[in-house]
Amino acid sequence: MRTIDHFIAGEASGGGSRTSDVFNPNDGSVQAKVPLGDAALLDRAVDAAQAAQPEWAATNPQRRARVFFKFKELVEADMENLAQMLSSEHGKVIADSRGDVQRGLDVIEFCCGIPHVLKGEYTQGAGPGIDVYSMRQPLGIGAGITPFNFPAMIPMWMFGPAIAAGNAFILKPSERDPSVPRRLAELFVEAGGPEGILQVVQGDKEMVDAILDHPAIGGVSFVGSSDIAHYVYKRGVAAGKRVQAMGGAKNHGIVMPDADLDQVVSDLSGAAYGSAGERCMALPVVVPVGEGTAERLKEKLLPAIEALRVGVSTDKDAHYGPVVNAAHKKRVEDWIQKGVDEGAELVVDGRGFTLQGHEEGFFIGPSLFDHVRPDMESYKEEIFGPVLQIVRAKDFEEALTLPSKHQYGNGVAIFTRNGHAAREFAQRVNVGMVGINVPIPVPVAYHSFGGWKRSAFGDTNQHGMEGIKFWTKVKTVTQRWPDGTAEADNKDAFVIPTMG
Ligand code: NAD
Repeated sequence: MRTIDHFIAGEASGGGSRTSDVFNPNDGSVQAKVPLGDAALLDRAVDAAQAAQPEWAATNPQRRARVFFKFKELVEADMENLAQMLSSEHGKVIADSRGDVQRGLDVIEFCCGIPHVLKGEYTQGAGPGIDVYSMRQPLGIGAGITPFNFPAMIPMWMFGPAIAAGNAFILKPSERDPSVPRRLAELFVEAGGPEGILQVVQGDKEMVDAILDHPAIGGVSFVGSSDIAHYVYKRGVAAGKRVQAMGGAKNHGIVMPDADLDQVVSDLSGAAYGSAGERCMALPVVVPVGEGTAERLKEKLLPAIEALRVGVSTDKDAHYGPVVNAAHKKRVEDWIQKGVDEGAELVVDGRGFTLQGHEEGFFIGPSLFDHVRPDMESYKEEIFGPVLQIVRAKDFEEALTLPSKHQYGNGVAIFTRNGHAAREFAQRVNVGMVGINVPIPVPVAYHSFGGWKRSAFGDTNQHGMEGIKFWTKVKTVTQRWPDGTAEADNKDAFVIPTMG
């Protein structure tokens, strides 16, 4: 059986006495094993990082940028291989896997501009003969812990800015689809990245805890489900680290009575069911405003759902593929049952779906619930599957309140032709990322990504300038070059200096 190993100091490496299965979600088979590393393995990675980081930080930023330019070229050249690898472990269709890699590459492009980004601030003449300047210095060693659902994009969100800013980086990818992150580390070394600057340690909770407790690691970035994000945040901060921990989501799409419903249905189908709903920026809740809007929307949604093609991840015509593993399939189906038990109306039932010739694959058909109420558990919690819930609102205020009061606050969208309603919504909604007639408002790489409430713990977003801030410390220098004429007995020296 194939083993997907660790990548330490520029080389493939074994380590850890336990392993985990990596499935092919298309047919349910185990296609590889991944070793689960331990604290001893992490120590080896930290040693290599400590050996390499000072020289990397001292390398001028233009030279560091050149490694990113080359890395981008190599990833682009390897795109088809990466997309195949990604789809075979995750289950998302190939075109979606290419998008996963490309969204990560967008962040790498931003990192190519690191000389400009790191220029710092300067004030000449802040006082008599006094100049002040600030610089951003790397934390030293950073670590990233990533989820299964974007195995290319999310690692690049993290290691791009961290490494460009002069840190060494240790990545602990999801044990469910570890091949793509592992391959990215190899390509980074091929691009001229020094050994020890980007390393991959495979593992599960044991490795996560070792990272959180390791005194040499200065910052930890986490993306995953909320309970674990909260745990990572608390344990990392208690150990004196800087931590950002992004969690789960339950994004709402508000449909105003004046919205273009054909456009909404097309947008919703992709945003609710694309990638089998396994996206933190999916739209699993739609909120039509007014009964008339709800009825018209439902009427248009039903044939669109009927037309969805569920297939293996290599099927070019499939809209979405299988979910990641059998445990997740069961979890999603249990949530559908919970919704039924709670009294929501199951209009389309995706359970029991089988794909001919792939009966053991982890497929779930699309499901649609209507008359979902805010007090239902199936509304409050993240399902993370191909399930769309309709929650009817009587007016704009009620529609605005639903996402604002929900425990998660990652993304939200409003569909309308009314600029005033859209503006009002964007101003007042208690959610971190807002789309106006944009169903999946993932910000571009040079802005930053982050939700509110239980969707993110810590105060700094991913990528863009926020990412650079997270991976660096500010040092501020106040300098004076006296001309030697000051009196020796200067009583003013005993008073706190002011610039007045
Ligand atoms: P997960 O929380 O199960 O796993 C995330 C990481 O945590 C993995 O590397 C895993 O090995 C590790 N982990 C698992 N159990 C752990 C434990 N008990 N202690 C310490 N570490 C542990 O998440 P997942 O299923 O891989 O990913 C899906 C989740 O991620 C969803 O909730 C989704 O909304 C969320 N997500 C959020 C964002 C965002 O930016 N907010 C983006 C993508 C995914």
